[in-house]
Amino acid sequence: MTARRVAPAAVALLLLPGCASFSQTLAAERDGGSPTTAAPSSPADGDDGPSCPAERAEPDPDRPVVDLDFRLSDDLDTVTGTETVVFTPDVATDEMVFRLVPNSPGAAGLGNRITVDGVRGDDVDQAGYEDAGADGPGGLYVLQLDGELAAGESTEVELDFTVSLGEGGFERLGAVEGASWWASGFPLLAWEPGVGWARDPFVQILGETATSPVADTTVSVSVPEDLTVLMTGDQDEPTAAEDGRRTWTSHEPVARDVSVAAGGFRTATLRTPGGVEVTTGVLPGADVGPGELADWVSEDVTELADRFGAFPYATLTVPLLPDEGGGIEYPGSILLAGANRTVLEHEVAHMWFYGMVGDSQFRDPWLDEALATYAESTAGGEGPPPDLDRVLATEGDVGAAMDEFDGTERYFDVVYGKGGAALLAARQAAGPPAFDAALRCYVQANAWTIATPADLAAALADLPAALDVLVRAGALDEEDLPG
Ligand SMILES: [Zn+2]
Repeated sequence: MTARRVAPAAVALLLLPGCASFSQTLAAERDGGSPTTAAPSSPADGDDGPSCPAERAEPDPDRPVVDLDFRLSDDLDTVTGTETVVFTPDVATDEMVFRLVPNSPGAAGLGNRITVDGVRGDDVDQAGYEDAGADGPGGLYVLQLDGELAAGESTEVELDFTVSLGEGGFERLGAVEGASWWASGFPLLAWEPGVGWARDPFVQILGETATSPVADTTVSVSVPEDLTVLMTGDQDEPTAAEDGRRTWTSHEPVARDVSVAAGGFRTATLRTPGGVEVTTGVLPGADVGPGELADWVSEDVTELADRFGAFPYATLTVPLLPDEGGGIEYPGSILLAGANRTVLEHEVAHMWFYGMVGDSQFRDPWLDEALATYAESTAGGEGPPPDLDRVLATEGDVGAAMDEFDGTERYFDVVYGKGGAALLAARQAAGPPAFDAALRCYVQANAWTIATPADLAAALADLPAALDVLVRAGALDEEDLPG
């Protein structure tokens, strides 16, 4: 997420990371071709470190399978739904934990709310809310299983839920005249593969705190027939209208989360030079047309793919919302609040950083926000170069967790500002070609996982000057360093 710090009246909002590019591999396989996601892995001098894989890592074949069935009410204020999850842990557990993002302090403060209305599952014993620093009825929903689920063993559960949409504004969910959107608008599976359940508390500052695995995700959305849906995943044509409604469906094989926007969007679709299908939508009175917005998106997708490797997803949708404030990224979809090109580039970069290379947004927020800010500042080339020494003198550790910041401004200054500057300085210290190659190796090796600072340090193992910069900025700790 990013908030437009230049807009004096802007409510700061953070972006959710999106995910991505395995779907291109799938598309290639479906077409009988060969996968096109091989990494641009070898720098010219061949010194790309011992751990750089030749190809992007594949997602876990036993990742969760999630089906979401949403219905937006005729008054556009309420979403009811059913979520089906087939879950196969890689670490034994006797429970399942879901994160209720609409009940987070910021979202609930605008009138958003989610309740779980029913639970089914052969292995479910009890279910209930946990507070986790959220508003009522709680920030987590926990299913107690009737026994231990061994690693590699599967269970299927179904949850019915209701989401009340608030008044709009720069938030993940909202409803205004003629448009509604809900991202993280369902119980979000809070599993960190190899580690366990992420029960991190919500915080008062503007930022993400979720950790979730990539899931093979199918979405179905019933809305009044005059609305157009733009969401995560490769969308089919809507059904024919029946009883005044149409149903829109999509599939994304590697989604950590889902965003849906429904409104009177005027849309444009294009295919980028790299084959990504981009669809944009704008509401009446928007500052930019959908075609121009799609051109911006295509330029960002192409430019960032040149730097970080193939775009993670087959599709990207960008609905432009009628609020100013920034952008919020979701896998394969960006809620853009204001037609700002720098914000857009930041959100597109999140498709690689969080969407594909995931992280704990609570524990290590810099792994997606500093990298997205770094991508934004090195790609655009607008304005004078930042005064790195001045920004790096900002007090505070780039690698701090979300609960270590006393306010949103400080969080932005340290994680986005100082973090982005530290990555730029690390690139200068190591030499841009070597640093860029190492960063591509980090992406290749950690695609579709929850990466850690130690993973990034490992990718930079042959670049001690870069590691020194990141340690001095408090992004990396000594224990993160290789060897
Ligand atoms: Zn961001």
